[in-house]
Amino acid sequence: MKQTQKMIRNLESLRHYLPDVAAQLSEELLEQYPMAIPEYYLNLIDFSNKNDPILRMSVPSPEELQVDGTFDTSGECQNTKASGLQHKYSETALILSTNLCAMYCRYCFRKRLVGLDTEETVADVDAVVDYIKQHPEIHNVLISGGDSFLNSNGKIAEYLEKLCEIDHLDYIRFGTKTPIVLPQRILGDPELQQILRTYCAKKQLYVSTQYNHPNELSKESVAAIRCLQDQGIIIKNQSVLLRGVNDSADTLATLFKSLTKVGIVPYYLFQCRPVTGVKTHFQVPIKQGIEIVQNVKRQTSGNAKDFRYVLSNERGKLEILGCKDQDTVLLQYHQAKHTKECSVIFERKITDQTYWYDGNTKP
Ligand code: SF4
Repeated sequence: MKQTQKMIRNLESLRHYLPDVAAQLSEELLEQYPMAIPEYYLNLIDFSNKNDPILRMSVPSPEELQVDGTFDTSGECQNTKASGLQHKYSETALILSTNLCAMYCRYCFRKRLVGLDTEETVADVDAVVDYIKQHPEIHNVLISGGDSFLNSNGKIAEYLEKLCEIDHLDYIRFGTKTPIVLPQRILGDPELQQILRTYCAKKQLYVSTQYNHPNELSKESVAAIRCLQDQGIIIKNQSVLLRGVNDSADTLATLFKSLTKVGIVPYYLFQCRPVTGVKTHFQVPIKQGIEIVQNVKRQTSGNAKDFRYVLSNERGKLEILGCKDQDTVLLQYHQAKHTKECSVIFERKITDQTYWYDGNTKP
């Protein structure tokens, strides 16, 4: 992997850019939840704005030490079939290919493992591939992590070589934020581009990425997206609704319109999960989320309003359809572990303080 970006990983380096912020942090916090910020991404911050959205997403906060919440909010451990392989929805296999990311998002729902010692990532690629071969109901694979593009080019090629041979797979997805936080990983690496082009000709490849704020869509980032598209890859975007980052209809409408301009279809807006170290400072109440989504839909058209507002719990991907009245919300599993629960519309109580519906939420 060729990239020469300086990475900000400790308080000493952070102090150089954000001395006041660094003074509030401790090395213990960074040991518990590591920090990594490519210099390119850090320079997207407006350093005069202490509420800058990119700062909030990338720079640690003492609020991460609050212990409320849990670490596995969607039952990932229960769905693990081999080291690094999850099979929750019958048609999809999810591969945790690495624990590394170019940037450790402060709101990450895999905070339990990113940048840390873990046994949850793939130990043996062949064991993963064998499981998928033996399960013809699996039609697509999501190679995730961590960030799948933090794997070496050789490892990416190995996955593609082995997965492209499986007839019952229709397509392969990569989960990566490198087009956003480290576009140099793509732009500066003709070998990676060649690998992607070669296998895209064999099986359709998708990149599932995660722009959360319009400021992330820089010239370099758009160039990386164009480069991936030139290899034949289709790019889709899933955002997370984050307090103090994008909890405004104008921000999200601008983001979704800007994404469609460069050929990226926004397909999910996720409710932020009640993860330890995340929930207390990033979650937005669901009622407020519904109002934001309604306003975004009024301001957008066509592909920019193609997204669904969802939360991912142990049962599945629960779509939040809207409020029926002041105290009642309409819900529907868009994807479910138990297929028969899909598509049934049902009601639940909602208050101004409802932030989550857990896996006990049955249709
Ligand atoms: S890139 Fe993805 S896996 Fe990595 S920290 Fe960000 S949200 Fe988590």
